[in-house]
Amino acid sequence: MKFAVMSKGDEVSNKLQQRIKTYLTDFELEYDDHEPDIVISVGGDGTLLYAFHQYSDRLEETAFVGIHTGHLGFYADWVPDEVEKLVIHIARTPFQIVEYPLLEVIVRYLDGGKENRYLALNECTVKSDEGSLVMNVEIKGELFETFRGDGLCISTPSGSTAYNKALGGAIIHPSLPSLQLSEMASINNRVFRTVGSPLVLPQHHTCMLKPVNDVDFRITIDHLFLLHKKVKSIQCRVAEEKIRFARFRPFPFWKRVKESFVKD
Ligand code: NAP
Ligand code: MN
Repeated sequence: MKFAVMSKGDEVSNKLQQRIKTYLTDFELEYDDHEPDIVISVGGDGTLLYAFHQYSDRLEETAFVGIHTGHLGFYADWVPDEVEKLVIHIARTPFQIVEYPLLEVIVRYLDGGKENRYLALNECTVKSDEGSLVMNVEIKGELFETFRGDGLCISTPSGSTAYNKALGGAIIHPSLPSLQLSEMASINNRVFRTVGSPLVLPQHHTCMLKPVNDVDFRITIDHLFLLHKKVKSIQCRVAEEKIRFARFRPFPFWKRVKESFVKD
């Protein structure tokens, strides 16, 4: 089996990365950061997001596992003290896999330029390049509302504990293939009106954002920021692809939620 180890880049994570490399090589696993069967991310949730994007073109072949060198994470749920145990588990393949849904985003352009397709593990956010964001929101091909405000966030279930949560969105269990649309400070008065509540859409219900005036937008896909010019539409739906996590012990999602947000 081939493996890769990604580090957040700080001293503690780099040291741990080296240790894992040595251990797994001693177990006669092959280090291969081009075509790994398993990717071990060392750092935080942000490091796992980075690892995901690094290998998003081979999701069917790659499994992910995260170790946190800071605070407990949602993707990074192993502590450095457990590294020896984890390494033995990894060496003793095959391992169990848990799949989480992803978000597919397709940005199309007015000038007929080639569309861009992205996969997000946490979310996509859309903001105006300047001033308020004004967007027609279509659901399953029907105009749902015209949004005016700071921006919109479309999150995956596992991303629901990240930016989405800060926007008052619900926490969604990752066994539900769905996406959540939440608002950033919508303008609501006698003229402008939006639903005001986060919406949870099932698989195959496409959410399409269509510009009303401006056509340049700041779009994020997880930690990646991009300015898109002359945008015709932004299409969001649950992706066909999934992320595969290597699971070596039970750590239920609600327990992670409790330990992260309620108490240890
Ligand atoms: P960052 O600024 O370091 O991330 C912000 C925080 O979000 C970090 O504490 C990060 O954990 C945590 N996080 C990431 N994914 C999470 C998840 N699925 N559930 C719960 N917490 C999560 O930047 P980053 O590490 O590159 O992460 C990018 C993410 O930051 C974006 O995808 C977005 O969700 C989030 N974000 C949140 C806000 C907000 O809450 N207002 C604003 C902008 C972006 P680690 O410290 O373990 O990396
Ligand atoms: Mn981070």
